[in-house]
Amino acid sequence: MDHEGRIQRVVAKLDDLELDALLITNLTNVRYLTGFSGSNGQVVVSRSGATFLSDPRYRARSASLVTGADITIYGSQLKDELPGLIASLDVGKLGVEAASLTVAERDDLVEMLEGVELVTTKNALEDFRRVKEPSEVEKIREAVRLADDAYELIRDRLVPGVTERKIALDLEVAMREAGADDVSFEPIVGSGDLSAHIHHTASAREFEKGDLVLMDFGARVDGYCSDITRTVVIGPATDEQKHIYSVVLATQAAGIAAATVGAVCREVDATARKVIDDAGYGETFAHGLGHGVGLDIHEAPRFAKISEDTLLEGDVVTVEPGIYVSDLGGIRIEDDVLVTKEGPVVLNNAPKDRLIEL
Ligand code: ZN
Ligand code: ZN
Repeated sequence: MDHEGRIQRVVAKLDDLELDALLITNLTNVRYLTGFSGSNGQVVVSRSGATFLSDPRYRARSASLVTGADITIYGSQLKDELPGLIASLDVGKLGVEAASLTVAERDDLVEMLEGVELVTTKNALEDFRRVKEPSEVEKIREAVRLADDAYELIRDRLVPGVTERKIALDLEVAMREAGADDVSFEPIVGSGDLSAHIHHTASAREFEKGDLVLMDFGARVDGYCSDITRTVVIGPATDEQKHIYSVVLATQAAGIAAATVGAVCREVDATARKVIDDAGYGETFAHGLGHGVGLDIHEAPRFAKISEDTLLEGDVVTVEPGIYVSDLGGIRIEDDVLVTKEGPVVLNNAPKDRLIEL
């Protein structure tokens, strides 16, 4: 669907939301609707179409990127243009995105749009974004391929004495050199004890023989993210490390198999979690089973104990169970999975069938 088609879907939704117009300030949503990427841009969607607004720094960039919407460049700030635009569209009720406005920004809007009722909306565009069109799936597939290839390339660099930071940098360089427009987030490389930190930042710690090394990273292609985790051991693995790895792998397999159209996300989470619980490591798996990926690294739907989401055809989700034991370290395995009518399709090809001993 081109930008015009996406904007028309939002126009059609204005009736459901009982709004005259919607002000989009979330930059990911702005990109999804118009193609614009940059640090400042807004879109107003009304029944007469869409207007993209930005400041003079983005004049040339918006002209080359934005399609499907009129472009208005304001003098220096939003309040130079927004009140006039909203008045010309005869807007009484204006939807705003609750999750992307600060309290200060909302106060500013109230002040500049006197007489306009601001109506809070939630997930107005996120619900459209989660189901991926074929062209979006292609970009995610390419981002997955770049991450898989980077893992292949750096694996023999995982030797005693090398730091977590060096490998994090090498992963980033490998993905960018192969064509990524960015990383999807700062790569996580955790070794030894630190691999048990679920949201670790790569440190100056040097690898030692016997370390588990957990790497969680991804690439962006045209804005679309991939997200993969692999865990290896430096030198021969202990029986306990091998056992935990096999539990995580079996958990992931159960989660992937359950990721079918119509499945309730909390049940997918529970199906997988049961494998770790039965093995006696349930308490260490202190995060959700996975999340949607797309233009944002974390988006709808979510696999979590309380998630009410239901899987739809075209969702792209991660399945990423982990076991984290202090003293021993952490093992997580994560792949990106496309939900199809024919069943779940794992997009990653990076090897994972056994704990790789380096
Ligand atoms: Zn990840
Ligand atoms: Zn993830």
